Parts: sequence; structure tokens; C-alpha cells
Amino acid sequence: MNIPFIDFSEQYNLIKDEVDAGLKSVFQKGNFILGEEEKDFEAQFAHYCDAKYAVGVNSGTDALYLALAALDIKPGDEVIVPSFTFIATALCISYTGAKPVFVDVEDQTYNMDSDQLKKAITDKTKVIMPVHIYGQPANMDEINKIAQERNIAVVEDACQAHGSTYKGKKVGSLGDIACFSFYPTKSLGGFGDGGMIVSDNINIDEKTKMLRDYGRQGRYDHKIKGFNSRLDTVQAVVLAAKLKHLDQWNKMRNDNAAYYCELLKDVDGVVTPLIKDDRTHVFQTFAVRLQNRDKICDELKKKGVGVLIHYPIPVHLQEAYADLGYKKGDLPVSEQLADEVLSLPMFPHMNKNQIEYVCESLKELVAARV
Ligand SMILES: *Cc1c(COP(=O)(O)O)cnc(C)c1O
Repeated sequence: MNIPFIDFSEQYNLIKDEVDAGLKSVFQKGNFILGEEEKDFEAQFAHYCDAKYAVGVNSGTDALYLALAALDIKPGDEVIVPSFTFIATALCISYTGAKPVFVDVEDQTYNMDSDQLKKAITDKTKVIMPVHIYGQPANMDEINKIAQERNIAVVEDACQAHGSTYKGKKVGSLGDIACFSFYPTKSLGGFGDGGMIVSDNINIDEKTKMLRDYGRQGRYDHKIKGFNSRLDTVQAVVLAAKLKHLDQWNKMRNDNAAYYCELLKDVDGVVTPLIKDDRTHVFQTFAVRLQNRDKICDELKKKGVGVLIHYPIPVHLQEAYADLGYKKGDLPVSEQLADEVLSLPMFPHMNKNQIEYVCESLKELVAARV
């Protein structure tokens, strides 16, 4: 049996007619840049996040970068991030000239550890950037409390968590600014790159709208030195069609995750994800922890199971950040996770047979101690 890591063909069938009609209309009108469909999608996405404002940009990375730029983050500043994340979480900080400060994550949720966070704060800390890793929100009450006491901003890296909730509140409305990615493999993904900056703050809304569009207000009136980073109208058409299904698809992901956990619950040597009582997960990624992960990963691929590792090297140990001088052992939980996590196939329309085949294959390999 061959099971792809993701397969969005069923999703495509569901939205095809709406996307075809929407694209045709954009092609005819020619409103490719910031057309009304893009503005409509911003309003829909803000509403989805229970937030006031949303600004469409080129990617999740740009969303994070422009959010930091809107907060005037500059050389000499420090921004605290978890090390167990995709490197873009840190790159956006480097673009501003500020320094990323990496902290370790919790052993159970893999999200930013607030005790470690407290220790990492200095008088240069300007922003805390928690990542809702794999789709489960970080411990936001603790993080917001630490930030508010010290007048530090909180920017959510929500690139993996469209639609999840913390104490009943939607991701996107949990900090000062939230940033989303619509990269095709994300749970809300376009047919190309895209991203969104979400907030309740009119100043952030206005400033990020200028920053993404050459710093202008009006046509040739440039208030600040901006960039070129807008969400294409064609992507907005695709994303608006998908957004209508997102809650349903997130539910299907959760059902799949629950079935995985049931089938793997008594398997020695396999640790399944834990969902905290006060939050919901959207399982952008379904990762288990294993001893001998690399060998099992290779063998699963041979059996036709599409698996990936998110992420094999924690950011503080990436060559790109060698200049910061971190060494092995500095952030032990992140380092251990990088050695043990394995992402299993996960997409809304997976069927039970597929999940059963993945689990059978995994169980065999674990039992055989490959
Ligand atoms: C995908 C991702 C990003 C970057 O988003 P792009 O749209 O690919 O630029 C940033 N942070 C996290 C946690 C991500 O998963």
C-alpha cells in the first residue's frame, strides 16, 4: 500500500467549481493585485480568528517579518522564540537586525516553556514569539502575563494553527499580533505562497498595510520605506473557497488523530501527542516520538508510508545560526525532540484503512526493534 504524506485531491474536488468560477472572474477583470476578492478574504479571515483586522501578505515568513517591522524591532533588540520550530520563526527576526534568543520547549506539548522564557528575558527583550507547534496553542496565559508585566509585545507564530483554540479563544486573537502562512501544505493552504497578519490594533493594521505595499498611502505618497509583499488575488480566491470548509477539515484531522492514538496507545516505545484540556489542536502535523527514529523512518518509507521529520535540527543548532554560539546540550528538550519526532501521514480525507496500515507498519517495526 502506498500512503502519501498528504493528499489534497479530495479537497480540490470540493472547491473546484467555486475556484474555477472565481479565478475566471479575476482573469477577466485583471484585478490581480489587492483586488476586492483579496480584501473580502481578509475580512473573512479576521472574522474567522475573532479579530478586527487582517492584512494579506506574500508568505508566513513575511507576515512575521512585517509584524516585527511594524513594532519597530531593530538592531540591538532581542526577540525570544522556541528553538523547536521551523527556521522561518527565527529568520524574520534576523531580517530586522534584532537577535533571536532561543528557549526550550515543554516536554509534553513541544511548545515554549514559560519558565525558560522568564529566564531568557533581558532589558533588550522587545517581543516574545510563541509558536503553536503542530497546531496546538502555546501556554498563552502564562506567556501574556510575563509579557504584560514587562511591557513586551507578543506575536503569535500561528503558521501551523489556523482554527485552534485556547480557553475557548481562537488562535489569532491570543497575543498582540498573529501571523499565518498559507503555504500549500498548511491546513489552510493556497495554490502558491501566501500569509496573513491578524490583530485588533488599528495602528498595526494601517502600518502593515503600508509596509506590504511600498510604504504608501494612496498611489505615490510613500510614508515609510515599505516592501512589496501582498497576497495575490488569485490566492485569495482559492483560500476563501477553502476557508468555508476549514472547521470541517480540522474536525476530520482530529478524528484521524484520535484513531491514530487509539491504535498506538498501548505500543511500547511510541509516544503519541498530548492535547491539553484547556485547548484544541488542529493537527497540521501528527508527530509521534520514537527511539531509533531514523531507522524506522527509512523502513516506513520502504513500506510505502510517506513520513517526514519536523524538524531534525533545532534552530539554535542550525549552521545558519552558528554565529550565535549555541552548542549541543543548551536546549535539551528541543534537541531530544529533534532526534525522536516522526510526522505520520495526515490530511483530512485519510481513510481508516490508510491509518490502520500506517499503524500496523509502525508497530511491526517497533516490535522488531529495527
Ligand atoms: C510554515 C511556517 C512558517 C513560514 O511560512 P511560509 O509561508 O512558508 O513563509 C513560519 N513559521 C512556522 C512555524 C511555519 O510552520
